[in-house]
Amino acid sequence: MFETVIGLEVHVQLNTKTKLFCSCPTSFAQHQNINTCPTCLALPGALPVVNKEAAIKAMRLGYAINANVNHTSYFDRKSYFYPDSPSAYQITQLTKAIVQKGEVFIDLEDGTTKRIAMTQAHLEADAGKNMHEGNRSKVDLNRAGTPLLEIVSDPDMRNSAEAVAYLKKLHATVRYLDISDANMQEGSFRCDVNVSIRPKGQEEFGTRVEIKNINSFRFVADAIAYEVQRQTEAYEDGVYDREVNQETRLWSVADGVTKSMRGKEEAADYRYFPDPDLRPLIVTDDMIAEAKMMPELPDAKVKRYVDELGIKKSDAFVITSNKEMAYYFEEMLEHKAVAKTAVTWLTSELLGRLKKLSISIENSPVDAPTLGTLVSKISDSTISGKGAKEILDYMMENDNRDIDALIDELGLAQVSDDGAILAIIDEILTNNSDKVEQYKGGKDKLFGFFVGQTMKASKGTANPAKVNELIKQRLS
Ligand code: ADP
Ligand code: MG
Ligand code: ZN
Repeated sequence: MFETVIGLEVHVQLNTKTKLFCSCPTSFAQHQNINTCPTCLALPGALPVVNKEAAIKAMRLGYAINANVNHTSYFDRKSYFYPDSPSAYQITQLTKAIVQKGEVFIDLEDGTTKRIAMTQAHLEADAGKNMHEGNRSKVDLNRAGTPLLEIVSDPDMRNSAEAVAYLKKLHATVRYLDISDANMQEGSFRCDVNVSIRPKGQEEFGTRVEIKNINSFRFVADAIAYEVQRQTEAYEDGVYDREVNQETRLWSVADGVTKSMRGKEEAADYRYFPDPDLRPLIVTDDMIAEAKMMPELPDAKVKRYVDELGIKKSDAFVITSNKEMAYYFEEMLEHKAVAKTAVTWLTSELLGRLKKLSISIENSPVDAPTLGTLVSKISDSTISGKGAKEILDYMMENDNRDIDALIDELGLAQVSDDGAILAIIDEILTNNSDKVEQYKGGKDKLFGFFVGQTMKASKGTANPAKVNELIKQRLS
């Protein structure tokens, strides 16, 4: 029996206005190589100046995950030659990163929580892009120098579910903190997965393989599954030492396999040394104060939803898994929705309808104040749940509406007035006097029949609780 060991390195592109060491914009550019200047083109004599906004955003993550935020940190050069990096080195933080030793809590299927230790998070500059068209290759340096925060975990995860839970938690966290848009398709949240196996009980780690640049949660799980199987088979076949090398591999989506890309470089290969152009990064009290300004994070929200709103933990996880959903939910409550009812209407009624239309909650045709108001009308018995579904269906196609006006228009106001309901009940009972006799003779099941008939005669607008109560009264 083997145990899997996983450590993750996540590259998060920070959403700063300008690049890490120059004032070029990081925004999308219509043409290649226009968001560039002597510094990010690495022209001789141009000097880098560190971007304060990037430092503050890195610090904010540090505070969010209970890490040490170093008041002094340093930049190092990692030397390598590749056309997308005109300086022939990457500026990164090797010896002392701005953020060290944090923790991320993940919630597992079995209801337990596990702590994943975070080694460090360091600032570094992204490279440009090489593009190959037919037999021509081009380099676009618009992205060169864009700030990245590389978040490195300890090798604390033991299966792919834990790895994915960790990634999802980190993804949600950077989005709550608004330090990155973390768009995985566009590569602003990408991950290197380190995987090894060892016989159960063995202290020492096995040889790790690093799978580079995976940009979807599913591919992370698939790549881990493949790699664990490959390494396990090699071990069982007695060829582990030959087949499993410390190397960099790629996940091939098309083939569903990992492929060797290159042997793993040692740190010495990169000729790391302190960047002589950059002074130590020293954080000021102002920067600390700004970095500490942060919203309520998922863990705190889950606790509050459970303790104060009485919501089930599993529902609280779903709602807080992304900030748009949590903010939508909280806005529903501000519009008088009762928490527990709001959960159902958000997570099953609204999300179910959005899913069918492949629309995300940000683009929901029905906004939070409107759905909140609708839900409040169920709780105060203005409308029935069935009526509310009809209204929601209507709005999914016709946009938000004033709920009261729509209730009138669609004739869905629930009747709770005793007199009106009793009139209907009396008519039903008179027309079914034979059944009333049978009921009184002991045929209890007929009670449901009377309720059904009354609801039908009221076209579903009678308040069901009232109907039950009044029929009971009349028959006793
Ligand atoms: P590098 O920067 O060269 O990739 P690091 O020592 O910084 O190397 O480690 C990178 C990642 O590899 C970390 O996330 C760490 O947790 C993980 N890791 C280290 N050893 C192992 C191992 N034996 N199995 C799985 N992951 C590992
Ligand atoms: Mg690495
Ligand atoms: Zn520049």
